[in-house]
Amino acid sequence: MTSTDAQTQRTESPHGQSTAVFLGTGTSVGVPAIGCECAVCQSDDTRNKRLRCALLVYLPGGTLLIDTPPDLRTQLLREKVRLVHAVLYTHEHADHLFGLDDLRLFPFRLGHAMPLYCTTLVEQRIRHSFDYAFSTREQTHPGSRPQLEFETIDENPFQVLGATVTPIPMKHGPHFNVFGFRIGDFAYCTDTNFIPDSSIELLQGVRTFVVGALRHTTHPTHYSVSEAVEVSKRVGAEQVLLTHVCHDLDHQTTNDELPSGIDLAFDGLRVEFNAG
Ligand SMILES: [Zn+2]
Ligand SMILES: [Zn+2]
Ligand SMILES: [Zn+2]
Repeated sequence: MTSTDAQTQRTESPHGQSTAVFLGTGTSVGVPAIGCECAVCQSDDTRNKRLRCALLVYLPGGTLLIDTPPDLRTQLLREKVRLVHAVLYTHEHADHLFGLDDLRLFPFRLGHAMPLYCTTLVEQRIRHSFDYAFSTREQTHPGSRPQLEFETIDENPFQVLGATVTPIPMKHGPHFNVFGFRIGDFAYCTDTNFIPDSSIELLQGVRTFVVGALRHTTHPTHYSVSEAVEVSKRVGAEQVLLTHVCHDLDHQTTNDELPSGIDLAFDGLRVEFNAG
């Protein structure tokens, strides 16, 4: 990686237009689920192959990664990603976090530690789960452990890579608070079963709304498809994309049934948006 390469990647979003790439759209165990012989898990439709959820966002100032799932290496290779400039966390569940070690190469190319934008709670969980990355013992060789630095976020909007990110407070089951994120006219709200009115307010005016929808039947910590459709109506976005999908939902069958303007996302899907 040369500085020219890094520069090239930075300019992939000309004229303030930005691009979001779905690295994964599957629920926590992925689709196909290990050992499952259901029709969706056995399907030949590539849109039914769902890695764990993450989003890559090409912003005017660099490449932002939202979450580091266990499939991260596979996802970054698939999308030919050369450099990530910063990482942003929705929450610390294993399916959004445990690919963190795959960030290890980027600090070499950046010339500094990888900035992780997250709440203090997520920081605590990362320090606990990846304690080797924070060891005070001298490294045996450069790059033997991830070089990370924390940028603490709360409910206030913040700047990253030339864009303003607005955290969207949401519930993920009865005891768990998580963030969705709005960047310009695009919002990414996975892993939730309740978006309060005050957060719906923050989503007014988005053109593309991404929201988690696990399956048709209800679940204690995720929206069902019909619940996600309902909340989407309150947001009023022109384009709605459902993510964090389990093997209950066949891509084509589900899309044929969804209202106009609402579709299942799929791995590799790219969406242009205005970062504002
Ligand atoms: Zn999840
Ligand atoms: Zn299955
Ligand atoms: Zn979760």
